[in-house]
Amino acid sequence: MRATGSDHYGAPDDRSADGDRTSRQDDVDDLDNATAGHHRSDHVLSPEHHRTRHHGPLMSELANLLGLQDHDVHLDQLRHRRAGLAERAAVAGLEREQAALDAMIAELRDRRDGIARAQKRLEDEVAGLEMKVAAEDKKLYSGTVSAPKELQAIQDEIAALGRRQRHLEDEIIEQMEAAEPLDAQLAGHASTRAELTARLDEATAALRAAEAVIDADVAIEQAARDRAAASVPAALLAEYDVLRRSLGGVAVARLEGSSCRGCHLQLAAVELERIRKLPADAVVHCEECGRILVRSSS
Ligand SMILES: [Zn+2]
Repeated sequence: MRATGSDHYGAPDDRSADGDRTSRQDDVDDLDNATAGHHRSDHVLSPEHHRTRHHGPLMSELANLLGLQDHDVHLDQLRHRRAGLAERAAVAGLEREQAALDAMIAELRDRRDGIARAQKRLEDEVAGLEMKVAAEDKKLYSGTVSAPKELQAIQDEIAALGRRQRHLEDEIIEQMEAAEPLDAQLAGHASTRAELTARLDEATAALRAAEAVIDADVAIEQAARDRAAASVPAALLAEYDVLRRSLGGVAVARLEGSSCRGCHLQLAAVELERIRKLPADAVVHCEECGRILVRSSS
């Protein structure tokens, strides 16, 4: 369609700055305020171009924009599918299960640690009593105490210490009995957790594999998208990006008869007449939805 590119707005050599895809987002952000809103006035991309050329290349560039949009819509679908993968939900479910189990394990460990501390205190106390009994025994049999009353007092003290020790030992047994079911529960949870970890590893691998399949499609589609974008003038592309973000991913629509294929509304007769009189390279917007309209070449 294009006879020569050198005098045209969209000629690749006029758009050297457009080569960097990452910088385009900044351009779009700058344009955001200027082009926001649906009912912007229609415009001709390049006044110079308008002067020198009244029909032709831009029509195909607008058609190229439709092709670009097909790629972008497909990319959106691929990303949507990637985000909504059943494998992703499976991983998330297993992660929630694991977190719930970890919370139960932590709570049980807290209780188990409390029992261990209590048991240690009791055992320390018993050890202290045993030392006292040993000391009293030594006094009793050393021969240094001979008064019967004093000997009796030592024997009474040893008996009292013994009673205290037996009481503490009963308490130690109670603590050990309380620990038993907790230890069993912790052992059960540990094996459940190991099983869960294995399932999570498996599910994560399945998710990565499913993602890789989509990522390969994304790479192919992205390359095709970039090729399509290279045939669209930078200013038109920037406007397209802004419109796509504000209009749910569809920035360009065909004008078929009197209706916009983007919003499916009929344009007013007066508006249609006005559009018909515009040069072919004028960028026209639907007055209802604000999308760029691609007029049929007839
Ligand atoms: Zn519309």
